[in-house]
Amino acid sequence: MTSFDQQSSPGTGPAADLPPSGGTGPSGGTGPSGGTGPSGFADWRTAQHEAQRHLQALLRCDTTNPPGNEIAAALYLRDRLAEEGIDSEIIEPAPGRASIWARLAGTGARRPLMLLSHTDVVPVERERWSVDPFGAVERDGYLYGRGAIDMKQMTAIQLTILLQVARRIRAGGAPPQRDLIFLAVADEERSGLLGMQWLVRHRPELLDVEYALNEGGGSSVMIGDREVFVLEAAQKGAARITLRAEGAPGHASVPHDDNAILRLARALDHLGAAPLPLHVIPTTQRFFDVLAEVAPAPVANIFRLALQSERSAWALRQLPDQGMADSLRAMLHNTATTTMLTAGIALNVIPSTATAEIDLRLIPGQTPEMIVEEIATRIDDPRVAVEIDFHAPGYALPYATDLAEAISVAVSRHAPGSVVAPYLFPAVSDSRFLAPRGVIPYGFIPHRHEPGQPMAQAMAHGHDERISLANLAFGLRVLHDTIAAMCFG
Ligand SMILES: [Zn+2]
Repeated sequence: MTSFDQQSSPGTGPAADLPPSGGTGPSGGTGPSGGTGPSGFADWRTAQHEAQRHLQALLRCDTTNPPGNEIAAALYLRDRLAEEGIDSEIIEPAPGRASIWARLAGTGARRPLMLLSHTDVVPVERERWSVDPFGAVERDGYLYGRGAIDMKQMTAIQLTILLQVARRIRAGGAPPQRDLIFLAVADEERSGLLGMQWLVRHRPELLDVEYALNEGGGSSVMIGDREVFVLEAAQKGAARITLRAEGAPGHASVPHDDNAILRLARALDHLGAAPLPLHVIPTTQRFFDVLAEVAPAPVANIFRLALQSERSAWALRQLPDQGMADSLRAMLHNTATTTMLTAGIALNVIPSTATAEIDLRLIPGQTPEMIVEEIATRIDDPRVAVEIDFHAPGYALPYATDLAEAISVAVSRHAPGSVVAPYLFPAVSDSRFLAPRGVIPYGFIPHRHEPGQPMAQAMAHGHDERISLANLAFGLRVLHDTIAAMCFG
């Protein structure tokens, strides 16, 4: 693969500056980095140090949710914004549970772009970390800390870019063609009830944008010798299913064949034995097309067969990387994962009911009724009831947009030879609250694959969560050029 270090060393890349007013856009390559001048990141090294400084400060705010305490991060962000003359609003629906919103006014020629992130993080098992999870330790080219990947690096990068644009305007540069909305929300890691969900219900006027850049994609994987960046352009829906098996009660000393626990166990065994039916949406079709295009011949064939109902399961088992196979499978099927069981009242009593809680993820376009039917058919036992509790539908976004184009151009500038492919994110993010409002929220935190390091997805929520300074710089450059193209291109 392309040498990572070479890509990320400051001052060597073809990184573009924010163009001066009437400039040629980021693809114009307005000058070698390391130069000087009023426009853009003329000095990449300074910009990278600034992003690092913001990230370290944010990592040192313990915003573990619960309890959250996102106010610590919000106050830091408020002060940095104020230093550049940007007013912000802190929204605090409950004590300490703060989101922060700011607007950098553009000319209004185009509709606003939102730079979105969340500042809460998941809890840590402190004894399993080799460093203080809230110390923002720098070691061997990596910054360690809870939130380094999910997703304070994005907050730091977006802040750095916003401040940069503001400085440029204050120095006499033209304003952006669209408003830039900065929004760092609380409570994403739980329910969003005190974060994005609250804003949607009580302050929808803050969310009136054309596009948002959020988490959900942006990492690269190696397919053969090609680097493929995934752009989240669709998101699965989520629901909870309860399976309730009925049986006959009795004394444990006299077993019979109508034991609710055994009935439930058989149902779960059927459910887990094979994937549910295949559903290929256009985003997924396009994703697999790109994989097949860049992969060496035998692997390319696997990607093609994976989209055929009768061959899909077999094809994915042939992939050398079964972790990747699991991820691909999740894009092709509704998934039903058993995570909790309840049964029994005493050792010597055969219970008359047994229940399982199932985490369900739905392909966009699938209704709760459709998935209940899929599961009931698979279980094939009328004495196991399937009850659904629906949370959120999935969605698929258009992909022929100027934002997808801007991302693609920026990525190929900073990771030459790579490609960007739209994909279906199997989990959920705050974007699910924006998509139904007509916003196009893409998930894209640029992050290059690093040989010998865990995937970014594996690092999020893991022990020793960390980001390389090289990847922080890469993310800064790609998002800078993307935003520049959207605002000045
Ligand atoms: Zn996150």
